[in-house]
Amino acid sequence: MLKGKVALITGASRGIGKGIAEAFAKNGANIAFTFASSVEKARQFEAELSAQYGVKVKGYQSDASNFAAAHELADAIIADFGTIDILINNAGITRDNLLMRMTEEQWDEVINTNLKSAFNLTKACLKTFLKNRSGSIINMTSVVGVTGNAGQSNYSASKAGMIGFTKSMAKELGSRNVRCNAIAPGFIETEMTGALNEDIKKQWVDTIPLKRGGSTEDVANVCLFLASDMSAYVTGQTISVCGGMLM
Ligand code: NAP
Repeated sequence: MLKGKVALITGASRGIGKGIAEAFAKNGANIAFTFASSVEKARQFEAELSAQYGVKVKGYQSDASNFAAAHELADAIIADFGTIDILINNAGITRDNLLMRMTEEQWDEVINTNLKSAFNLTKACLKTFLKNRSGSIINMTSVVGVTGNAGQSNYSASKAGMIGFTKSMAKELGSRNVRCNAIAPGFIETEMTGALNEDIKKQWVDTIPLKRGGSTEDVANVCLFLASDMSAYVTGQTISVCGGMLM
């Protein structure tokens, strides 16, 4: 589905990003991915993925919240891969706390890593997309960006912001054949949700009509659809991958 395309996936050393990189490589895409600090994991993944699927794979240590770093990254990818066809703004963190106890640092860190990063990377890739008159941008939001969540005001605000950003990009870039959509995962089993205690996990799963947490593959499959020409007439949308949690 993505033969010969170049995909930039932020935060793919583990979790959902890693699942997306695997699905894309399996479907013929060349993969440029980023990570924050997992150097060993990233190097191993880079070698495994290219050996398994015979596509070009390169991991870059690059802080998605840093504007200058995003531009350096895009330049490095153009030099290494020649172009960028697909951008997945996936890198994200949580710093949960009730507002009463939330520090300014916890607020800023989450907004910068989850939301400002989408601005940074989209802006850095824009010239290439406009020149190509083609591109697919996918922003990883969350169901809590739609519903809100106690203890996650910073995270929910960052994810709601991403939805507004997605719709604005779809309107600004549609005439140039650049599409922008968002995916809102519900409860997906990764290290991010692995940090939650068992009672909280059970409470989440009980509210899900499909009665299970999602896998990274569940999210990657929707990403594959949105990145490929199968979704050529889809832009500005937020697709929930949440087992029916959000209706
Ligand atoms: P995860 O397992 O914690 O992985 C996060 C990834 O982001 C890692 O590769 C990490 O790199 C990278 N990262 C963190 N900060 C970064 C930065 N400043 N610059 C570049 N990369 C950075 O998270 P996940 O569960 O896969 O979540 C992926 C995305 O889906 C996030 O945006 C998250 O908000 C969203 N989401 C997840 C769920 C869920 O249930 N898991 C639900 C809804 C939405 P290192 O390994 O180097 O730290």
